[in-house]
Amino acid sequence: MNKRIPFIAGNWKMYKDCNQAVETIKTLLELAFEVEDADIMIAPSFTSLYPVGKILKDSNVKLGAQSICYQKEGAFTGEISASMLLSCGCLYVIIGHSERREIFNETDENINKKINAAINAGLIPILCIGESEAQRDAGDTFKILDKQIELGLKDFFTEDLNNLIIAYEPIWAIGTGKTATDEQAQEVHKFIREEIEAKFGKSLAESIRILYGGSVKPANIKQLMDMPDIDGTLVGGASLDAKTFSEIIKYK
Ligand code: PEP
Repeated sequence: MNKRIPFIAGNWKMYKDCNQAVETIKTLLELAFEVEDADIMIAPSFTSLYPVGKILKDSNVKLGAQSICYQKEGAFTGEISASMLLSCGCLYVIIGHSERREIFNETDENINKKINAAINAGLIPILCIGESEAQRDAGDTFKILDKQIELGLKDFFTEDLNNLIIAYEPIWAIGTGKTATDEQAQEVHKFIREEIEAKFGKSLAESIRILYGGSVKPANIKQLMDMPDIDGTLVGGASLDAKTFSEIIKYK
C-alpha cells in the first residue's frame, strides 16, 4: 500500500517577471487553496522568490528554488546561497535539472555538492535525473540513471536523505509534448526505487517520493499518478497557467 503523500510541483523556469509571478500565484491560491491531500510546490525565478514567498506564507502551496550554489557565501558573482533561499521562504530546491546539466554544464559532482549544501541548510532537495533520446535508443537508460544516482548521492548516509525527493525527467519528454507512457515511466520509477533500496536500504526506498516530469498536463496526470511507483510530478510548461496547473493539482 502506497502511503506516500502526492507531490505536485511547478517549475516556472525563466518565465514571468515579478508582477506576472505575483498575479499567477494569487490566482493559483484561489483555485487550489482547499487541496489538502497533496504537497504542492512552485519554483519561480530567483527574482520572484521574495514577493511570491510573502504571498505563499502560511498557505498550502510551498516555495521552491530552481537551483542553488554549493558555497555558503563569498565572491561567487551571480550565485544564490542556501541561506538566501531560506530567507525568501523556500522549503525546496530543484537540483540537477536537465537544462542546468545540458546548457550550463552542471556535472554530477556539482550536483552532489549542491545537494549537500541544501541538506546542511535544511532545504529539501529535488534531484532531477533522466536520459536523452539517444541514450534511451541505445538501451542505456538504466546505466545513465544509475550513474546519476550513484554520483549525485555519493558519500551520503541513509539518514541524510530522509527528505530527499527524486524527479525522473526523461529529456526527450521535457517541453516536447512527448510524454513517457504510464508503463515506461513506471518501469523506470520501479528501477529507481530498487536502486535506492540497494544503496540506502528498504525503509528509505519505501518512503522516498519519486516524481515524473515531462510534458505532464491535465489530460495525462491521472494515468501517471495511478502507477504504483509514481508519487507526484514536476511540471514545466503546464504550470505557467494557474488554471491548468490547478487542474493537475486536482487530478483526482
Ligand atoms: C521540466 O522542465 O521539469 C518539465 C517537466 O517541463 P515540461 O513539463 O514543460 O515538459
